[in-house]
Amino acid sequence: MMEQLTQPVIEVKGVGEARAEELIELGIQSVEDLLLYFPYRYEDFKVKELTELKHDEKATLEGKVHSEPSLRFFGRKKSRLTVKVLVGRYLITVVFFNRAFLKKQFSIGQPVTVTGKWDQHRMTLTTQHVSFGHQEKSETIEPIYSVKGEWTVKRLKKVIHQALNQYAESIQEIIPYELKSQYKLLDRKDAIRWLHGPISHQHLKQARRYFVYEEFLLFQLKMQWWRKLEKEKTAGVKRAFDQEKVHSFIKSLPFPLTGAQKCVTDEILIDLGSPYRMNRLLQGDVGSGKTVVAAISMYAAATTGLQSALMVPTEILAEQHYDSLTQLFANFNVSVELLTSSVKGKKRKEVLESVMSGEVDIIVGTHALIQDDVTFNELALVITDEQHRFGVNQRKVLRKKGMNPDVLFMTATPIPRTLAISAFGDMDVSTIDEMPAGRKPIETYWAKHDMLERVLAFIEKELSKGRQAYVICPLIEESDKLDVQNAIDVHAQLQHFFNGYQVGLMHGRLQSEEKEEVMAKFSKNNIQVLVSTTVVEVGVNVPNATVMAVYDAERFGLAQLHQLRGRVGRGEEQSYCILIADPKSEVGKERMQIMTETNDGFELSQRDLELRGPGDFFGKKQSGLPEFKVADLVHDYRALEVARSDAANLIYSKTFWESDPYKGLRDWLLLQVNQWDDKLD
Ligand code: ADP
Ligand code: MG
Repeated sequence: MMEQLTQPVIEVKGVGEARAEELIELGIQSVEDLLLYFPYRYEDFKVKELTELKHDEKATLEGKVHSEPSLRFFGRKKSRLTVKVLVGRYLITVVFFNRAFLKKQFSIGQPVTVTGKWDQHRMTLTTQHVSFGHQEKSETIEPIYSVKGEWTVKRLKKVIHQALNQYAESIQEIIPYELKSQYKLLDRKDAIRWLHGPISHQHLKQARRYFVYEEFLLFQLKMQWWRKLEKEKTAGVKRAFDQEKVHSFIKSLPFPLTGAQKCVTDEILIDLGSPYRMNRLLQGDVGSGKTVVAAISMYAAATTGLQSALMVPTEILAEQHYDSLTQLFANFNVSVELLTSSVKGKKRKEVLESVMSGEVDIIVGTHALIQDDVTFNELALVITDEQHRFGVNQRKVLRKKGMNPDVLFMTATPIPRTLAISAFGDMDVSTIDEMPAGRKPIETYWAKHDMLERVLAFIEKELSKGRQAYVICPLIEESDKLDVQNAIDVHAQLQHFFNGYQVGLMHGRLQSEEKEEVMAKFSKNNIQVLVSTTVVEVGVNVPNATVMAVYDAERFGLAQLHQLRGRVGRGEEQSYCILIADPKSEVGKERMQIMTETNDGFELSQRDLELRGPGDFFGKKQSGLPEFKVADLVHDYRALEVARSDAANLIYSKTFWESDPYKGLRDWLLLQVNQWDDKLD
């Protein structure tokens, strides 16, 4: 039976060679692909009462033609056809553009059903779609498919219906009865049918519900099983670090760890000491103190005589980490080195040699760490900071420089749990959800451009107290295309405005030595105002800076704004973040509003996700997010949690591996193995 669905789509009646070719364009090769090619939305043709309609909304109305239609041409091919239609007690106007041929089809008194956009003020419906006579009930919800090339929705619908006629009976159930009845889910067969042709909203909802669960369950089974295999495969890499030394290092820190830091440190140390390879995501808001957790972990590795690498996205950050680690380890017998592309010639050779010989315990660096000529003696722990900045491959290259090293990814972009368990379903997640004591929350304000003078006056007041400020612009220099502030112009203006103060300029096009020089001056307070692009976004630490002003703030994502805001509030003084923005859209306004309302990165990221959807959240390219046909990571997150825990239980249960009703799921899972070679290596 199963084979039937894997047959080429040409087996469907009415699909010849040419059509089959065209279907490939839509990613459809087999009968099954066709059956699972679901509508991406539905149009509701349910007839409504006039009183139910809202302005500007799409609606379907039923009425009677009241008078002769009138047709007017304008331009060469354009026309406007107007018909008065009586709907209940009201006379409305129905307008068609460029549908002159319809004129002949209207006759007075005839019942018509029209669907279009409703203009409440003019009592007018603008439409493309009319059907004459009374409507059939079953037609009220129209599936809309995404089509390309030769295909129209209508043609595709026909082919899908034909496929359903021929093959619906061959559709096999995947989810066992036990689970389906537990969640009151439809049969797969019906869910597929109803998604293509729902006869009511209730049906549609049920059909979606089935597939949301199926998609999440399959996806999670894959993840959970992969994790299980990973754990079994890497059994035996146990690092017996020196507990006592690690504790005395923690005691030596200039501050006590926060509760959250303690928890995540324990989680990591347990992983390090366990025979499994660690694969862990450490998330914590900007300033929550991830670096010290990394330091403890690397120190633990060093007590076993093994090496650790800390990879960061920028040189500035690498240097900062290098400095703070050197300080933290000043009284401990740990050798730390720095490797970036600025480390050249003889120094570079020395560093590479000492990394190879094992003399170096901890190496901090940028992408320079993953160059071919970097060889480790024995790399036991790999940490990446701001992990979202690295592609999957870069992380993998570094990991491969060791023998099954433990891996820790750190990120200050808090990822909502739904996304974390989707994009990183193969990882354990540790979260620092507590800030070191005594931090003053940053006050955030949203100002329109016309308040710029007041904003600058405010900054000047802070400067006069001896504080420093960042001013962020979206662009480096003037652009013909975008009417937004650029760092070079703003720098020139502010130099003029803040006379008596040094105003520095920083952007990604400066040489790295130039950047360093500017940054060093800002650190030493030789520069008071730093005009910059987002290159300062990551990690930079200047506690005396108390103002972060962002021009054209609506152009940045919430997560990015939050990162920028995290550059201030690092010292004793009250800090401020000022967002200068005139967002046009409601969403844009809401985003600015949210920034002023919360300092909590997790809350922000959750709300950003709700506003922008999961695709935009990571930026499309390297999201690593699975694609679902029906399920939606944001709206269906509860189902995801349920499916995740079901999957985890199943993978370790005898029933799943042995009992008959689970064969469908099992077979599906085993089929996936081939596709994993890449991931498993
Ligand atoms: P992030 O998580 O953004 O990388 P950092 O590790 O840079 O944060 O820490 C931010 C600042 O907080 C640093 O100056 C660090 O020394 C300090 N810090 C870290 N942990 C604590 C703590 N438990 N108590 C007080 N200060 C801390
Ligand atoms: Mg950090």
